[in-house]
Amino acid sequence: MHEDERNKPVLVVDIGGTKIAAAVADAGGNLLGKARGATPDSSDAAVLVDEVERVSRLALDAVGTPLDAVAALGISCAGIVNTRDGVIAYSPNVAALRRTPLRSLLQERFGKPVRLANDATLAALGEWHFGLKRSVSDLVYVTVSTGIGGGIISGGVLQEGACGGAGEVGHMTIDVNGPACPCGRNGCWEALASGSALAERTVAHLEAGDASILGELSGGDMEKVDAQLVAVAARQGDRLAQEMIAATAFYVGVGLGNLINIFNPSLILLGGGVTKIGEPILGPAAKTARERAYVASACDVEIRAALLGDDSPLYGAALIARERSV
Ligand SMILES: [Zn+2]
Repeated sequence: MHEDERNKPVLVVDIGGTKIAAAVADAGGNLLGKARGATPDSSDAAVLVDEVERVSRLALDAVGTPLDAVAALGISCAGIVNTRDGVIAYSPNVAALRRTPLRSLLQERFGKPVRLANDATLAALGEWHFGLKRSVSDLVYVTVSTGIGGGIISGGVLQEGACGGAGEVGHMTIDVNGPACPCGRNGCWEALASGSALAERTVAHLEAGDASILGELSGGDMEKVDAQLVAVAARQGDRLAQEMIAATAFYVGVGLGNLINIFNPSLILLGGGVTKIGEPILGPAAKTARERAYVASACDVEIRAALLGDDSPLYGAALIARERSV
């Protein structure tokens, strides 16, 4: 990016499994005019690009910035994003992204340079740069929500891997005989410790007839039993809900222990909806992680909640749009 382009705003977009978020990021990294839309339930990439453009224009209009004034686009995507050719190799939750040359499609649509990367990788980058001001050089960021994603800063360098797939920690195997994962394999961390896993584990107990106020809270509709509702029941003292959260926290901790052994981070930041349950997840998960991590006996690791909330991928996208990936 040329020096005269550096002061121009960039457009940042986060394409997730259920929503599309967009904002205008100024030269200081502030997110302005945040706008939201729903991810289309379509496998047609053109329909997705239409919605990305609509939400982007809402953000631009909100701050009165014409598209012409934007220097570049930074795009955060759920899935394995090949950062070299701009093709989404795999995306379990967004059908329109599968094997889609998203970078070239968006460059054609917007007439601007487009850079894209995995959402959790960008969240890690955003947390590291804007949240922590790069005060640590070995950071593991993990988001635990519907699925589990992650991003790794090792030795002060964002790890992207050979084709953008580094940090897909949700699919490390925790139990070879474990439950099915959306990726088609078994016993992945995501299949045991995500919000979906928490909900499925709880529903299995409810259907087996275990006593809980969740029957009442859900009106008997098991589709309504999600991580948030289990958290509500737990706060009201429901024993089953508390046990299910404890089981999830244990599995979160098991995975974190593995990551401590591999990366020896000084800090682990936890984001995503499940970690918003707070201490009932964070406390036991950190305890289990430290107990199970061989490396933790030699070198302590701080484990705490992430700093930037749901906006962290957009902050990271603002950095890659300005070619500041590392
Ligand atoms: Zn998996």
